[in-house]
Amino acid sequence: MLTETKTTCPYCGVGCGVIATVDVTGKVSVRGDPDHPANYGRLCSKGSALAETIGLDGRALYPEILGERASWDASLDMVARTFTQTIAAHGPDSVAFYVSGQLLTEDYYVANKLMKGFIGSANIDTNSRLCMASSVAGHRRAFGADTVPACYEDLELADLVVLVGSNMAWCHPVLYQRLSAAKALRPAMKVVVIDPRRTATCDIADLHLAVRADGDIALFSGLLAHLAQSGAIDENYVGRHTSGFAAALLAASHGRLAELSEATGVSGMLIRQFFRLFAETQKVVTCYSQGVNQSSVGTDKVNAILNCHLATGRIGRPGMGPLSLTGQPNAMGGREVGGLANMLAAHMAIENPVQRDRVQRFWKGPVMADKPGLKAVDMFKAVADGRIKAIWIASTNPVVSMPDADAVKAALAACPFVVVSDIQKDTDTARLAHVLLPATGWGEKSGTVTNSERRISRQRPFLSVPGEARADWWQFAEVAKRMGFRSPFDYSGPAAIYAEHAALSAFENDGERDFDIGAHAGIGDQVYDDLLPFQWPLSHTGASQARFFAEGGFFTADRKARLVPVATPVMQIPDPKFSFTLNTGRIRDHWHTMTRTGKSARLSAHIAEPFCEIHPSDADKAGIGDADLVRIDAENDRSIIVRALLTERQMRGALFVPMHWTGETAPSARVDTLVSSLADPLSGQPALKMARVGVSRYVPQMHGFLITVTRPLDLPFAYWAIARTEGGYRLEFAGSPPADGWEPWLQHSLQLGEDEQFSGYVDRKTGDYRLLAFDGDQLLAALFVSPQPVSVSRQWAADQLKQSHADRQARSRLFAGRPAAGASDKGAIVCSCFSIGINEISAAAHRGCRSIEAIGAALNAGTNCGSCRPEIRRILDANQALAAE
Ligand code: SF4
Repeated sequence: MLTETKTTCPYCGVGCGVIATVDVTGKVSVRGDPDHPANYGRLCSKGSALAETIGLDGRALYPEILGERASWDASLDMVARTFTQTIAAHGPDSVAFYVSGQLLTEDYYVANKLMKGFIGSANIDTNSRLCMASSVAGHRRAFGADTVPACYEDLELADLVVLVGSNMAWCHPVLYQRLSAAKALRPAMKVVVIDPRRTATCDIADLHLAVRADGDIALFSGLLAHLAQSGAIDENYVGRHTSGFAAALLAASHGRLAELSEATGVSGMLIRQFFRLFAETQKVVTCYSQGVNQSSVGTDKVNAILNCHLATGRIGRPGMGPLSLTGQPNAMGGREVGGLANMLAAHMAIENPVQRDRVQRFWKGPVMADKPGLKAVDMFKAVADGRIKAIWIASTNPVVSMPDADAVKAALAACPFVVVSDIQKDTDTARLAHVLLPATGWGEKSGTVTNSERRISRQRPFLSVPGEARADWWQFAEVAKRMGFRSPFDYSGPAAIYAEHAALSAFENDGERDFDIGAHAGIGDQVYDDLLPFQWPLSHTGASQARFFAEGGFFTADRKARLVPVATPVMQIPDPKFSFTLNTGRIRDHWHTMTRTGKSARLSAHIAEPFCEIHPSDADKAGIGDADLVRIDAENDRSIIVRALLTERQMRGALFVPMHWTGETAPSARVDTLVSSLADPLSGQPALKMARVGVSRYVPQMHGFLITVTRPLDLPFAYWAIARTEGGYRLEFAGSPPADGWEPWLQHSLQLGEDEQFSGYVDRKTGDYRLLAFDGDQLLAALFVSPQPVSVSRQWAADQLKQSHADRQARSRLFAGRPAAGASDKGAIVCSCFSIGINEISAAAHRGCRSIEAIGAALNAGTNCGSCRPEIRRILDANQALAAE
């Protein structure tokens, strides 16, 4: 018998519905939920591979105190006692919670209630601060509340979709699929991508504006001025529903086209085309994401975009409006419960005494935080300087993800009391915990999440809870009870928490607050279990509402929106030693610090190593060749080593390095160690896309590549990066050879016994060295070492771990690291769903497949999640260009 459970994907802010099926053997499979309005059955590569990421390896299964297994009672008592004593001795602001957009709304609600309403501090912040705090601040400045005015359907209804700082094809893939399907149906629809890189998203772009970092304020200010000059302002809307237009326009109306071109890095011709398109198109949606938010002027960028929509009245109607895309699955839920240090709960403001009093009366709390708490960057600075003496980190890995990550690591290492709740035991942050609390993971926990279009969906459990893991809400509630707050935290389960959250949203809400889900105030367990996805608001009187502000009704005192004058940032002349701008971000198949996606061999096959995108002419000047290693040095004296990837998709003077690699997977590639803690003064969001760095070739004594059935214990190399592969691991490394030689190192590092057979090979001319280890016919390891970057067919080599090697003669192929001439070699994986490599796609193109559809028909590639379709198109284009030469 099969059991099917409808739940929600735990990754990005698209919030796709997932149907998880468990068969009689306990095997889990997933597919997209055809009834979920976010995805209508689609899933991207990450969502499709969810079943591969739920294994128990590395899971935290029991509480630990100082690394020793402990009981829940002892652990919770210790947390409650230490927090209580710290507060008694040093005041409520001496403690903090750092939580996460991975938490469910119910978890978030309980943590926020405990900190703000019972401890009396607002020192609770979240990794969502790193993701969308500038959007929150921009919304609140313009609309008076953190309201997302548009919905996903608007992307399909628009005649012009502008994507700013958003690699939607990789970071919100299902929305990208919806957009590309809409464009395919209605080719007259235009798509403009504004991004320093020519990303996979540009595959469907009619225009790509490669704007320089932070040049988007000048661009959207210039656009506002152009809209005014070209008569595109909606005078009626502006007059009836907004204030501040004249001041915003005055601030925007500086400079001629040539100056705008200089400030943005975009040619005057492209700017003119974009402005004309925007001015002449009524149905415009502007989507923006981390490229806008993660900036020291992120809030101004958001308001520069909102100004253009408010000035044209293109908001809240089908196919029109600004739409911020959240990175995380429940960043929006966190905003709703007030999980940011500068918010209260249910979209109420901590600075507002009436709203503070209202929340306190509702919670019946003994105290109420009366000022904003410390935002993420300042929170960890306060840990470093001793103002915060006890911190509880839940469901996030700040030692990797925070800017100036080494300083965060040092701060936590010196902090008197660190509690970490996580599903994984060995994250870079969990290693610093005094108390480690095992949390339930996706498939085990129960609650709600809100996606980027304000749609609340259930995450439902379908797996039994392993070991002694417990829900995050339960952990916070148990500590609250032990701190003396028993009855306010005596919840029977997540339904009771959700019901209270819904009741608070409606409490004394006469329409002055946007967030109202009062219809669910008295919800019971069964209705909660059966809850269908819906968009808020859903007050006790009304129906759900897809859009806001078509007829004004903003949440300011006079119900008018504010157009905000924004200043164009002055371009700084960089120190010649740090002349590159470093951009950080995501790749297609991994999520955050890879604690889950890193478990999937399929997802790890697409990009198995950290890399740095650099323009070929910059690389040439620095003497860097493709596949060389590079060292990136930052102004803060930190450096990383990653693989060079030369590409014209990157603009000159800028680098891109992904954010996913950690101390567990590539310790020399923790890119956030390079990023300073500079943050937007209004939102507190760090400028994770604009570190100043220098780049140079890194020349090790040797380069190496290893495939192995077990993870090596000892990696004494300056650079290494490890990834899962079917049947084992693949390792890239470089540095100096081990002092005792390769065979002893391999034997010790892989714990190989005496009976294993080794065979080696040295090419005296090139200095290349190969070493194979077998147990009978089973390949245990194949090591490739070279003075140059190792040239072997990596995917073919990795696939050898799954093969039998009974044919002793054929084993010599392994020394070559590639198949015999004419034998198949799929090459680097492009389509993760069907494990189709670049060589297979190129061969099919050679045989006459000219379109993505033809490749799909021939190989299946691109026919499941569709995330690889932009890359398939690039391979086809490259093949056609070659054929034309
Ligand atoms: Fe999950 Fe992909 Fe959907 Fe995002 S787009 S919610 S990662 S399936």
